[in-house]
Amino acid sequence: MSLSARLAEERRARLAAERLLELKQAELFAANRKLGKHARALSDEIHETRAEITEVRSENRLVKSQLGLAHEKIELVEGQLWKALQTMRDGFAMYNTEGLLELANPAFLAPFEDLDSVGPGASYRHVLEMLVEEGIVDLQGERRRSWLNRMQERWLLDPIPPETIRLWTGQFIKIQDRRMPDGGVVSLCVNITELMRMWQAIEELPDGFVIYDSEDRLLMCNEPYRRLYSKSARAITPGASFEDILRYGLSQGQYAEAEGREEAWLEERLAAHRSAEQEMEQQLGDGRWLRIYERALSDGGRVGLRIDVTEAKHIQQELVEAKRRAEEASHAKSAFLANMSHEIRTPMNGVVGMAELLRDSALSDEQALYVDTIRNSGEALLVIINDILDYSKIEAERLQLKPEPFDLERTVHEVLLLLQPTAREKGLELLVDYDMFLPTRFIGDPGRVRQIFTNLVGNAIKFTNAGHVLIRITGRCDAEGAAAVHATVEDTGIGIPPDKIEHIFGEFNQVEDDRNRQFEGTGLGLAITKRLTELMGGEIWVESEPGRGSCFGLRVVLPVDEPAQIETAALPESLREVLVVDDHVLNRAILTRQMETVGLSVSFCKTAEEALDRMDEPPDLIIAEQDLPDMSGLELAQQLARLQPGLPVMLLSPEPQTLTEEAQRSGVSAVLPKPAPRRALFAALEAICAEPLAPEPAPTAMAEGLPTFRSRRSGAVAAPAATPARPLDVILAEDNRTNQMVFRKMAEGLGLPLELRLAGNGIEAVEAYRERRPDLIFMDISMPRMDGKQATQEIRALEPPGAHVPIIAVTAHAMTGDRDGILEAGLDDYLTKPLRKQELARLIETWAGRAAQPP
Ligand code: ADP
Repeated sequence: MSLSARLAEERRARLAAERLLELKQAELFAANRKLGKHARALSDEIHETRAEITEVRSENRLVKSQLGLAHEKIELVEGQLWKALQTMRDGFAMYNTEGLLELANPAFLAPFEDLDSVGPGASYRHVLEMLVEEGIVDLQGERRRSWLNRMQERWLLDPIPPETIRLWTGQFIKIQDRRMPDGGVVSLCVNITELMRMWQAIEELPDGFVIYDSEDRLLMCNEPYRRLYSKSARAITPGASFEDILRYGLSQGQYAEAEGREEAWLEERLAAHRSAEQEMEQQLGDGRWLRIYERALSDGGRVGLRIDVTEAKHIQQELVEAKRRAEEASHAKSAFLANMSHEIRTPMNGVVGMAELLRDSALSDEQALYVDTIRNSGEALLVIINDILDYSKIEAERLQLKPEPFDLERTVHEVLLLLQPTAREKGLELLVDYDMFLPTRFIGDPGRVRQIFTNLVGNAIKFTNAGHVLIRITGRCDAEGAAAVHATVEDTGIGIPPDKIEHIFGEFNQVEDDRNRQFEGTGLGLAITKRLTELMGGEIWVESEPGRGSCFGLRVVLPVDEPAQIETAALPESLREVLVVDDHVLNRAILTRQMETVGLSVSFCKTAEEALDRMDEPPDLIIAEQDLPDMSGLELAQQLARLQPGLPVMLLSPEPQTLTEEAQRSGVSAVLPKPAPRRALFAALEAICAEPLAPEPAPTAMAEGLPTFRSRRSGAVAAPAATPARPLDVILAEDNRTNQMVFRKMAEGLGLPLELRLAGNGIEAVEAYRERRPDLIFMDISMPRMDGKQATQEIRALEPPGAHVPIIAVTAHAMTGDRDGILEAGLDDYLTKPLRKQELARLIETWAGRAAQPP
């Protein structure tokens, strides 16, 4: 081989080796790079792991430190808890499952003082034994063994019942033991000495005290409670149910009031206990009385108090008995008074009646004066007797109201008509101001309303020497058709001292001093008035100023008996201007209000002179008062008739009947009573307009029964409506001879042809009726053998159909209730004693023509 070839070969081999080297180098490089990458990844991982380890380490440290902290805290709390247990006033101990003390605070150990054996490790039994042996517990009479056993046994119960023990120091400890889930026992010993003190106080109470829990089991009661229910005492133990205690008591005869109705009683008693609201009284088997108070507690339990009220009960019974006897006596007294006053009335009627007859005979002036005195005294006595009769009736509770429709305004005016003469004698004005917007018809007892006003106005007149008495009636209707009526009676009299205001409404009470002695009276009027007002559901009061006057007020609610519309008069256009001549300012004001309501325009003057001066421009009507300062109303009318013929004039007079004839002759249109009721005034106004110049005005005013020209009741005794050709056949049944005579004389005095047949009692009256049917019978009510009511019934039974004889009762009973009884018995009317000629005449006039003939 050539060198060159060998060289070439060598070069080729070197080149190949170089290429191989290059390749290997590249491979090595790649492997190196891969290795580097792996190494980087590895170091990254190592980094991460290191970081994690650091983190875990630091967390571990944190947890460790927190654990340490928690430990510290637990120790702290434990320490505090222990400290708290140590400072606690109540004893605290824990026993383990074996009943050995695990821990006990100083309060628990305190009663054991230095006794080393009582402490952790000591058994419950040992603790109990030490309590007894060392005399720490006061067994209050219980035997050691029984106490120990009882205390031991309670631990076997679940839950363990609480127990209160008393220490030798007098302190009370309530032991409350609780079993824990692991079988150990926690014991809490609470010092309840304060509570027990309270309880001791309750023990000291003289009254029985008891508490029942919400299930009606006895929680506690004091000794007096047990003592009161001595027969039930054995059943009265804590935990016993109320019902069981009651049942046991019933079996022992504990409750007198339950005898014979035990089950019903038990039910009532339990119901009362449950409601625990009312107070009640209970009588025990031994006769004692208890007052029972029971109240519900907020936890549903009941607390009760039992007070022995036996003594009070006896006193109360005695009082009730005394009251009953007193009432009986009072009733008897009232009945006696009622009878007596009735008995007194009969002879008094004779006295008054005879005096009236005597007055009509020929007498010298002096004799006439004596007779008048007899009559007036008799009448005065009768008023007193009536008061007593009334009062006795109210007292004996025999007085009942008889409501019926009536006209209040008219009633008031009727009262005034009766009292007018006395008022005139004293120169007093009587005024009525009746609310124009108040109805006048009501439902009430008119007799009693009249009596109330008679008393009040009568007093006002009696205690007033100058001035006026004003009756004001106002009121308001409600939606139910009733009106609250408010009446006042005001006077300008002597008044009542403030300290006597209440006093005068009492029985027999008067404003007593010398000044008062000059006034007559029983002191019963206001007492009766007050009772009557109260009976009507109303009230009465008085305001007064001594020396200036009094004002009695009265309020009652009365049902209205007419549609609520304002009374008015239908007046023609021609009647516009009215001139009122009256010197009394109040009267003018009242008249103005009345007339303005019907649309008249009113002007006034005080004297007749003034009125005459105004005649250049005459009004459409003149209303003048009769008692004018310068001349009488009648004289004024006469002068006006000459000056202004045709000008209507109306007169107002307290005594209209004395004027009528003369006034009629003088051309006066109407004479109205003063004060004039609204209806009468309006009727007179309408009548004037209807026939201004007629000699007799239209009779509308008469409808009111008030004096006008046409009234047949103008005072004169009129002949019977239908005078029979034969004498009037009248039977008088009356047992009292004096009364018979009074009646006969009076009847004869009427100047009528009249035949009087006398009957001494009811039987004789029936006999007389059988003998011959009379035109009229006057019948006394109380008569021996057969009374007037019965006789009337017998006569009614005898009457053939259609034949009705008027029978008129003659009675001393002035009461409205009696009246109804009389009418119910079949009588037609009644006449009250003492007889009065006018009244007798009126009745004969009314009834004589009415005897119906049998068909
Ligand atoms: P009587 O009038 O019979 O004495 P009342 O019971 O009616 O009895 O009145 C009792 C007393 O009240 C009267 O006695 C009188 O003192 C006093 N009294 C009654 N009304 C008035 C009055 N209007 N003004 C002054 N005093 C009066």
